[in-house]
Amino acid sequence: MTRAYFLYYDHYSATKRRSASCTAGLRFDENNAAAPIDVGKEPCPACHFIDNDVAGNISRRRMHVFNAFLLGYFHQVDSDRKSDSGVAYKDWVECAGKRCKHCGANVERIFGRRVFWPLSPRFVKSINAYSKSEFSTRCRCGGNLEKIGLDCPECREILYDFVEDRIDDKEIAQLSATQTRCPGCKEVVVPKLTLECDECKKPTPLTLWDVEMKVVKVGTGTDTAINIVKWEPISDKVRELVSKQKPFDFGRLFKKMAPNEMAKLFGIPNPYEDEDTKSDRKHVDWDEDEDDDGIKRKAVKKRRHDDDDDDDDDDDE
Ligand SMILES: [Zn+2]
Ligand SMILES: [Zn+2]
Ligand SMILES: [Zn+2]
Ligand SMILES: [Zn+2]
Repeated sequence: MTRAYFLYYDHYSATKRRSASCTAGLRFDENNAAAPIDVGKEPCPACHFIDNDVAGNISRRRMHVFNAFLLGYFHQVDSDRKSDSGVAYKDWVECAGKRCKHCGANVERIFGRRVFWPLSPRFVKSINAYSKSEFSTRCRCGGNLEKIGLDCPECREILYDFVEDRIDDKEIAQLSATQTRCPGCKEVVVPKLTLECDECKKPTPLTLWDVEMKVVKVGTGTDTAINIVKWEPISDKVRELVSKQKPFDFGRLFKKMAPNEMAKLFGIPNPYEDEDTKSDRKHVDWDEDEDDDGIKRKAVKKRRHDDDDDDDDDDDE
């Protein structure tokens, strides 16, 4: 695992009112994820019927799942749910502050916990748009960035000077996407945006991966949106905490269901019956130690991390 997020398909049966992730497993390549699933190679009963336009009311949507770090105080307490061998799972509960019963019972209070955060395409799009318009106006050093012009990427000739001619962001976006002939080197080039930081000599715009965000979900049912109500560059304290966390092994976490199991869940035939093997799906403790492979993580501060489905839960199971 070398990525901060992965993609998977989420299936939902409106008849059975159940959802399941695609039995074809995670999509490791963003480009391939857009392509139809190769059902011959990675069988998924739901995809089979969707690709053949006979799925009825079983749907498929592409989800992003992010490694995230939830800021705030938490306790780890025994869950009501038990494993097959009778061992209670652990649940994370948010500390309730002054009148917290877990604090009262001297249960250890932990700052920050890693979570995984599944987001539907619509939410990913809105976070990206926000990131582009807001985060990118600040420098990694903490300073403010200003777009000062467009230069030739070949010879660095100044093509447009925004300090001289004030133009708005929309025009800048348009100009920076339009090929032009450089008067300096005479090449046809796509202009390169030049930024200036009021604090440092190395202007580097913040990205989604460099910030702490407070995210709230608004609306109900299918009419929901996520709003970033507050954000700031990652503090040294959080960066340090995050660096000690291990990213989720999404391959294990989203261990795929056997096609037979899904067929049963959705009440559909399994076209892959013959090649289907017995499910090897096991309980995976999401906080079990995993191989440390230094994935880039995102620090997020948010109230709710669920998506428009209520079954997107990040608790320990
Ligand atoms: Zn599928
Ligand atoms: Zn507490
Ligand atoms: Zn040039
Ligand atoms: Zn700077």
